[in-house]
Amino acid sequence: MSDERKTLEQRHQMSDLERLRHSAAHVLATAILRIWPEAQFAAGPPVETGFYYDVELPHRISPEDFEKIEAGMKAEVKANHVFERIPLTRTQALEMAQSGALGALGPRPEPSKFKLDIIQGIPEGEEITIYRNGDFTDLCAGPHVMRTGNIGAFKLTTVASAYYKGDEKNPQLQRIYGTAFKNKTEMEAYFTMLEEAKKRDHRKLGKELELFTFDDDVGPGLPLWLPNGTVLIEELEKLAKETEFAGGYDRVRTPHLARESLYITSGHLPYYAESMFPPMEMQEGDGVKDRYYLKAMNCPHHHKLFAAVPRSYRDLPLRLAEYGTCYRYEQSGELFGLMRVRSMQMNDAHIYCTEDQFESEFNAVNQMYLKYFNIFGIEKYLMRFSTHDPSRLGQKFVDEPELWKKTEDMVRGVLQRSGINFIEVPNEAAFYGPKIDVQVWSAIGREFTIATNQVDFAVPRRFGLVYKTRENTEATPLCIHRAPLGTHERFIGFLIEHYAGNFPLWLAPQQVRILPIGDEEPLIEYSQSILTELRNAGIRVTIDASSDKINGKVLRAEEQKVHTMLVIGRRDLDAGAVSLRVHGKGNLGAKPRAEVVADIITAAQTRRA
Ligand SMILES: [Zn+2]
Ligand SMILES: [Zn+2]
Repeated sequence: MSDERKTLEQRHQMSDLERLRHSAAHVLATAILRIWPEAQFAAGPPVETGFYYDVELPHRISPEDFEKIEAGMKAEVKANHVFERIPLTRTQALEMAQSGALGALGPRPEPSKFKLDIIQGIPEGEEITIYRNGDFTDLCAGPHVMRTGNIGAFKLTTVASAYYKGDEKNPQLQRIYGTAFKNKTEMEAYFTMLEEAKKRDHRKLGKELELFTFDDDVGPGLPLWLPNGTVLIEELEKLAKETEFAGGYDRVRTPHLARESLYITSGHLPYYAESMFPPMEMQEGDGVKDRYYLKAMNCPHHHKLFAAVPRSYRDLPLRLAEYGTCYRYEQSGELFGLMRVRSMQMNDAHIYCTEDQFESEFNAVNQMYLKYFNIFGIEKYLMRFSTHDPSRLGQKFVDEPELWKKTEDMVRGVLQRSGINFIEVPNEAAFYGPKIDVQVWSAIGREFTIATNQVDFAVPRRFGLVYKTRENTEATPLCIHRAPLGTHERFIGFLIEHYAGNFPLWLAPQQVRILPIGDEEPLIEYSQSILTELRNAGIRVTIDASSDKINGKVLRAEEQKVHTMLVIGRRDLDAGAVSLRVHGKGNLGAKPRAEVVADIITAAQTRRA
């Protein structure tokens, strides 16, 4: 959570850009105080796209105030003040806060109440520091840039409200957001990208292209897929099923709900209860009350399938795959188009294997990712490899020091040898094993977290999963959780932006439309025979047999982003040709019918970009 105090370790890991942005928050506070000296500041951390500072102020800050505040910030940057670090004793820090001098330009009649509270929350023994830039002094552990002049370019973006420490029992503050960059060029590129992202907004295109919808009677966060969107889903599933079949996966099917006891065994209850839909209580014939939950993850069901049959080492690795539907109770304020939903279909699989098999299985999963990146033209990606912290074994991480070391070494080794782009993030593993979050960048350079892989060496034991070893003893398998295509919802949300709705032929909901010029019988018949030939090969094809002029037909097909248009005139008919037009590429001229048909079929079958 951004409202949590950063650990020292996290502070050391702050990137140069985060330092710069956090420094800009100090400059923002300075400028606000010059206009409203009574402002009370709380927290001002860097965030993914910039920074914010939470402030309590009777004046309601609005975007109309931004120019004035930015002018003040500019003056501070121009003055090129040093960020001066000053260590204080706890008593000195409390005195300064009492005198109103923290998050301030000097002592004030009212104490700096939030800073006072923050100081009281700093663990005994942790060093307390303040930072000064010009006449502004703030309680802060740093780090910052050297001087205010290092903040190359900045801009205030929005203002929102937020409760102090994210708790609605606390006072409501104004959260002023801004962003900052090393220089103007980088900032301009960022805002251009945002403009482009707006045009490619998946909610906007989803509506225009009739991909999906939401309905109040169905409920928030529960997408309904229209026929065009369903095509995207089914093409993705086909790709996943083919790829997984080739990778030796077995497909399974499981129900959308389960008894409470399953989730107690898995540990989802009580720890994950807030993210699950509330239980359904029911009373069966014997009068015993039972509680059922919609599934939030597929793993427990798959573990039961592993346990359903006696397993031996000969059965391993066992790879159970399912496009499973899960339900998560996201807060209504968190819901966002397809990116944050309450029902989702996941490209899930669980690989049960021995320790010896782990390395090659994990490598195969990575190769699958690379294959998908290639198909979708994803050029930039990053795998964030989260590892454990040995000092927190038994608390934050399951107490298996040797297994941690072994699996982390194996994962690291595979990542290094395969030349995959990754970074290692200490202390962020899951409770039961290391994990890898996969980030990808869309064609316009926006970042998405698509999928997570996890190595699990604890939960199979909770479920009592065992296999007979070669020596006829019992052993617990390792489990790899993987979902390279993430959920349909998030992945399609990403693809819509990535392609700007101009899907490659194999994915395009409307692949081919035949546009006869006029409605003469022979033209319609010729068009019909092309339609039959393409449809028999599995191509999604329609004919626009309306009486509209050809220009109108082309315009409509272009607007609907139909991938390939075959215009059929008298001359095409006589020559056994079609006039080819491709969305985004325009008119490509007349070509022999057989050649065009064959090329369309090949492009679709090979998933050509
Ligand atoms: Zn600071
Ligand atoms: Zn899982």
